[in-house]
Amino acid sequence: MFDWKQDPHRRWNALTGEWVLVSPHRTQRPWQGQVEPGPAAVPPEYDPQCYLCPGNLRAGGARNPDYAHTFVFDNDFAALRPATPVERFDRGGLLIAESEPGICRVLCFSPRHNLTIAAMPPADLRKVVDAWVEQYLEIGSNPAIDYVQIFENRGAMMGTSNLHPHCQIWSNRTVPNEVLKEQASQAAWRERRGACLLCEYAELESSQRGRLVDENEDFLALVPFWAVWPFETMLVSRRHLSGIDGLSDTERNGLANILQRVTARYDRLFGVPFPYTMGFHQRPTDGAEHPEWHLHAHFYPPLLRSATVRKFMVGYEMLCAPQRDITPEDAAARLREL
Ligand SMILES: [Zn+2]
Ligand SMILES: [Zn+2]
Ligand SMILES: [Zn+2]
Repeated sequence: MFDWKQDPHRRWNALTGEWVLVSPHRTQRPWQGQVEPGPAAVPPEYDPQCYLCPGNLRAGGARNPDYAHTFVFDNDFAALRPATPVERFDRGGLLIAESEPGICRVLCFSPRHNLTIAAMPPADLRKVVDAWVEQYLEIGSNPAIDYVQIFENRGAMMGTSNLHPHCQIWSNRTVPNEVLKEQASQAAWRERRGACLLCEYAELESSQRGRLVDENEDFLALVPFWAVWPFETMLVSRRHLSGIDGLSDTERNGLANILQRVTARYDRLFGVPFPYTMGFHQRPTDGAEHPEWHLHAHFYPPLLRSATVRKFMVGYEMLCAPQRDITPEDAAARLREL
């Protein structure tokens, strides 16, 4: 008899149309999941060397204002620039390139260098949500910008050496790969079923409960059925919204609340500030209505079984498909019980 909890199988990602290999029996390998001690030194509230702290000089020569809550600026070393002229290159359909104009910004969550989302006063985190909405609307209203990506990289493991709580906002002329895949799946679902893919998915997870990690009035936090990273989670709005700009006043508080609950659970899992990449997916700002889009956020954390053991996407994963050992149901249970 096949056992979904023990036997190897693959799961379909309804959002991307891709498959992930699940090998639960491999978790019976010797377990070394002891909790590592947290970082020894408590970081200071203000760091004179930090390019994000209030009043400090940035590498580009600008000086940060003495900000009290959030602070946004154009990235000094932006990956995309607004004044890039539109050009296209095509050599026999084989070598194709396009110029890509865009805008890259940095948003500091707080003047306090050592705060995290989990530790911020809720009223201050609400100001961060408000800033995300403002940035999405402002950058998205630029006719040259078709997609606005808000994301946070946290921790040295994710390539961020700066602890200062902040996120990045990259926006470009075209809709990027991952977003296009999810858009195609959501549009196809709507076409076929006359309903929203993530509304149906959220309802299913809400009734099954086995992959739920946390919830409030406005959002569900769950380990997706098709999760690739060991402790990957997704935040889904209960109400159908195509973008963060559709959040009501109370839903903005609800988003701040669920972000705090989920990041606090992550920090408790291995007793360390948990590294992750977090970001929102929402409707492109290309002027179309996009009723197929349902606002959500992904957390992709790299840690596997302790503060020091990370998952690498190598070998089979680079050549074939992603693979995981611990099941999404087990991962959800561990996060839920914290
Ligand atoms: Zn700082
Ligand atoms: Zn929906
Ligand atoms: Zn997504």
